[in-house]
Amino acid sequence: MKKRIGLLYGGKSAEHEVSLSTACAVTGALNFEEYEVYPIFITLDGEWRCGERLEKPASTIEELQFGDDAIILENNITKFLVNESGEAVKFDVIFPLLHGTNGEDGTVQGLLEVLNLPYVGNGVLASSAGMDKVIMKQLFEIAGLPQVPYTYFIRSEWVKEQEAILTRCEEKLAWPMFVKPANLGSSVGISKATNREELKKAIEVALQFDRKIIVEQGVVAREIELGVLGNDFPEVSVPGEIKPMTEFYDYDSKYKDGSTALIIPAELPTEVVASLKEQAKRAFKILDGSGLVRADFFVTADNDIYINEVNTMPGFTPVSMYPLLWQHTDVSYPELINRLIALAIERHEEKQ
Ligand code: ADP
Ligand code: MG
Ligand code: MG
Repeated sequence: MKKRIGLLYGGKSAEHEVSLSTACAVTGALNFEEYEVYPIFITLDGEWRCGERLEKPASTIEELQFGDDAIILENNITKFLVNESGEAVKFDVIFPLLHGTNGEDGTVQGLLEVLNLPYVGNGVLASSAGMDKVIMKQLFEIAGLPQVPYTYFIRSEWVKEQEAILTRCEEKLAWPMFVKPANLGSSVGISKATNREELKKAIEVALQFDRKIIVEQGVVAREIELGVLGNDFPEVSVPGEIKPMTEFYDYDSKYKDGSTALIIPAELPTEVVASLKEQAKRAFKILDGSGLVRADFFVTADNDIYINEVNTMPGFTPVSMYPLLWQHTDVSYPELINRLIALAIERHEEKQ
């Protein structure tokens, strides 16, 4: 019997377009002899729309953006479980291809839990802990993973005690500093500050995106990323290096200007690779990850390692780092997708 898979994509986030391209690529990699593929599209406004079963891979992203004649799920998003004739559609697995807010932060995962549906990737806890850079760092601290010094605060504290916060940053951290909204990705709202004036501005920028802000000490280092794949016994890919041509790996270099080189495998001494792999696994375990994460590190010229973050739903187009890392570890894109689906079903069965 074919497995019925619901592809969930789009979403109310800055990465809406990226998600659409990913969905397109995933349909191209799925074996239609093995899977029945149902598209579920979330518009930029957050409206859920269901499409007819796909008979073949989508060739353009437009095909995956249903018009107003689609089934619009309005206030009852669970209607995607019912087809046009009112019969229940029983999904074997949901593949959420969503990034950022409402996608990889545990909210959609919570919905799928309540509906008792197996889904690809991380559960509620790992997703939400991985989305909040402060909570994530606190967990990494417990796991004994080295990271750069940081401090954090919330908006109301900033409003009340700006000077004290700026002084705290200067006392605790060396310049330059990186200011980030705690709950975003794709470098949105992140800036680098080299003095107190810039720091103040950077904080004001970050506060437009989030009520919680993290300020980190900047590090001059290479950016090295590893893929983790599995549930209770995860495997780790070869490391890859990101070489942004801009000052740092900002939103445009990630998605727009293609000015970033990916070097896979990254050139590193064997013992550094071993340490990175071990740390990537530890990061996955402390978050109680499942399915996949991409663990991102800074590696200095002296080969000191600092974990930067993990991403619980990393970029997933065929030219994104995570799939490429696995391709260089002998797991092709279609095989990677099959493994993620199998892991989702395995995890769901274990819970029952
Ligand atoms: P996001 O979750 O949005 O990807 P990151 O924390 O990875 O946020 O930061 C985005 C980019 O900013 C990093 O890839 C890196 O280029 C740069 N960056 C972030 N923090 C630091 C830091 N502490 N030192 C140096 N560069 C940093
Ligand atoms: Mg991130
Ligand atoms: Mg990042």
